Amino acid sequence: MRIPEQEAHRLDKADPGHRHLFHVPPADGGRYPEAAYLAGNSLGLQPRATRAELLADLEAWSRLGVEGHLEAERPWLPYHELLTGPAARLVGALPEETVVMNSLTVNLHLLMVSFYRPAGRRSRIVVEDAAFPSDSYAVRSQARFHGLDPDTTVIRLKPRPGEETLRTEDVTDFLAAEGDTIALVLLGGVNYLTGELMDIAAITAAGRAAGAVVGWDLAHAVGNVPLALHDWDVDFAAWCSYKYLNSGPGALAGVFVHQRHLGNPDLPRFEGWWSTEATTRFEMTPVSRPPATVEAWQISNPPIFAMGPVRTSLELFDSVGMPALRERSVRLTGFLERLLDEVTVDRPLTVVTPRDPARRGCQLSVRIGAGSAAELTKRLRHEHGVIADAREPDVVRFAPVPLYSTYHDCWRVADALATTVEQDR
Ligand SMILES: *Cc1c(COP(=O)(O)O)cnc(C)c1O
Repeated sequence: MRIPEQEAHRLDKADPGHRHLFHVPPADGGRYPEAAYLAGNSLGLQPRATRAELLADLEAWSRLGVEGHLEAERPWLPYHELLTGPAARLVGALPEETVVMNSLTVNLHLLMVSFYRPAGRRSRIVVEDAAFPSDSYAVRSQARFHGLDPDTTVIRLKPRPGEETLRTEDVTDFLAAEGDTIALVLLGGVNYLTGELMDIAAITAAGRAAGAVVGWDLAHAVGNVPLALHDWDVDFAAWCSYKYLNSGPGALAGVFVHQRHLGNPDLPRFEGWWSTEATTRFEMTPVSRPPATVEAWQISNPPIFAMGPVRTSLELFDSVGMPALRERSVRLTGFLERLLDEVTVDRPLTVVTPRDPARRGCQLSVRIGAGSAAELTKRLRHEHGVIADAREPDVVRFAPVPLYSTYHDCWRVADALATTVEQDR
């Protein structure tokens, strides 16, 4: 490597993150005491604080039994409220617009119950062609649920020929031209495959101007890039917490519904006892009285032991702050990009993520010109202790996460690629 290893060590001294707050796993059965863990976009690392906090919640159950609902140090009945403030700050929302519940795809469905209301000509759903499969299945099944043909109802926006990512104007021009047939726009804030950060504000404005409802899947955006959902006038959004939010596999997810929709009695919604006003919940009446907050979308009483890890993680984001994380993220990903430039120039590898830091988060996706992505990541792990993430057939994703990744992790990735992938002859 022309950029020497010492340069990475120097940058780590000058610009340390918060790695000491996380468990960094070994790689290849301990041969590498610390992996170069670049897969935080797939599953974030465990904060060291999580275990003790989770055990404290378990301990309350053993000591208090049912009384823990009211008497635990963190009482279970209003437990979800502890997560609301930090989640709202993270996505740029008002507290009444944000709640942590369920999992991501479940939440997308619950939100589409309210916000996908096909009517006559205005029935189509716009997604990106590189939508995450779960989102594709969700919107197709929603179309079918309404008695519509998914093949004609779901529109998949493709990049221009020869381009890897969608241009904002390609989306906004489409919405301006076809808007009167579109009921719902549902896009990924940061695309899971290419790492492209969409212009959420501009696309939301264009969709709403066209008369559509605009929702965002923020799985790869939350905790990765700064968000201002309220000010951007987003109708609704949902995200998971096990990627950049480090809350553990299958962790509870988050939901945003814009203030203008709260308390609207005309919106259909699926309800349960957690949808009703907390003060009247135990009156055991047959008809609910939903609050004028996003909590009206809650259905069941939440799993407390699953909430603990989300709370711990959100508190960490709150204390570090997204602006500081984003600044370090731009520096760290910029360093990885410089390293990859050196490696990709004479190898069958192409970075498909936009080069402009304003159009991406921390992830850089590399398309490999030969061989399988899964095979390459396996070699990176066993031969170099580098943990990355393959999307078959030909994309490998590297995400230096600003909370815990290091410049040296980035250097290890580039060095590993340089020795693993043969140069063009
Ligand atoms: C990770 C991810 C999901 C996963 O859905 P779950 O319901 O959490 O299993 C869905 N959509 C996108 C865009 C994702 O990146």
